[in-house]
Amino acid sequence: MLYHSTNNPAHRVDLKEAILRSLPPDNGLYMPDTLPVLGQDFWSIWRELSFQEIGYAVAHAFFHEDVPAAALKEIVEGTLAFDAPLISLSPGDHILELFHGPTLAFKDFGARFMARLMAWLVRGDNRELTVLVATSGDTGGAVASAFHRVPGTRVIILYPQGKVSGLQEKQLTTLGDNISAVEIDGTFDDCQRLVKSAFLDREMSERLNLTSANSINLSRLVPQSFYYMHSARQLPEGVEPAFVIPSGNFGNLTAGLLAVQLGLPVKKFIAATNANDVVPAYLKSGDYQPRPSTATISNAMDVGAPSNFARMQALFGNSWEAMRGKIEGSSFTDDQTRAAIREVKSLFNYEIDPHGAVGWLAARRWRAANPGNATITLETAHPSKFLDVMEQEIGKDAVEIPERLAILADREKVASRLPGDEAAFKQWLNP
Ligand SMILES: *Cc1c(COP(=O)(O)O)cnc(C)c1O
Repeated sequence: MLYHSTNNPAHRVDLKEAILRSLPPDNGLYMPDTLPVLGQDFWSIWRELSFQEIGYAVAHAFFHEDVPAAALKEIVEGTLAFDAPLISLSPGDHILELFHGPTLAFKDFGARFMARLMAWLVRGDNRELTVLVATSGDTGGAVASAFHRVPGTRVIILYPQGKVSGLQEKQLTTLGDNISAVEIDGTFDDCQRLVKSAFLDREMSERLNLTSANSINLSRLVPQSFYYMHSARQLPEGVEPAFVIPSGNFGNLTAGLLAVQLGLPVKKFIAATNANDVVPAYLKSGDYQPRPSTATISNAMDVGAPSNFARMQALFGNSWEAMRGKIEGSSFTDDQTRAAIREVKSLFNYEIDPHGAVGWLAARRWRAANPGNATITLETAHPSKFLDVMEQEIGKDAVEIPERLAILADREKVASRLPGDEAAFKQWLNP
């Protein structure tokens, strides 16, 4: 399979280049030349398949020309080493828990698949791979965990100073070995800009053998489509769910669109955002206006220029009408989100994190306008990752901290600190 840039269909590369380069030189995003479709042989049995079997079928559809079956099976099984349970709060109101991985957020799925696929792609190469990633919270931890001690790789994580939670920061800064963290005086958008600038510096990018682990990397999106299928098949036959996706860079939502391309019936996608509502605003007006991000309590969604937007457009043939036929936008303030955390606790005795709470509000709004339908809201992180907010809303000790997070509290943070300045970052990266 070949991959092309969203900016130029004539710029085509193979899988290894699309995954390791991550970003085409023309600043577009890589897309597969042909989007795979799963056949009747899959759809006639998909409800009986295991999570891992579904994952393998999807990965096979995308990568079978390039990765041998045995290697692909190992990559999928290594990725899906934990479940994604579907919980029902009330009839039609389902929550898909995506936080059962090592770093307690959905990004474990993409990061684990990417690390395994990259390690397979560079097997036998004699050069260290430098993985560069900007994070607004959860990406960095997931990538750090997925690559920790993977031979032949070095990982550099950029995060905005003071804008990630204490435990998120510990996940980024305490692993050591081949993982380094850099604290940037600036916003997430500054971190993302610095990462982009290093890539667009061709000479540096080649000398350091740079690769990116942000959600612009196609290998993170494909495994995120696994759980759309895994959850939808658990609803009664004939029920077409609407998926509600708490969104920032829109990688998760784009993965849902890939699942639809593969043949999954989905009634609607609801793009749920906090005050950073660039995409809901676009869906309403047709006018796309990226802008600087605003800090909120659902900080992993504080993105003012969503990096997957070009892919979403490409998947709808650059048609606003087509996109708004399939995706509805819904955005909420921090006050509404806080009230939702309290409400979900008191109505259902369920602890929902601030990102999931934004999703739950969007789901309720949509079901009210479309009665008789079922929603699956992606619960993107475990509530204990946002303990401050949870304690303020539902009280101390209301949220249990899983062991794998609790042990980080006593580990020492190690990070370099830099201004949000391209020259300073490049100097640090390559002194
Ligand atoms: C990354 C993240 C999101 C946003 O996901 P995108 O794919 O960037 O839209 C939402 N919630 C949590 C907890 C996250 O970590």
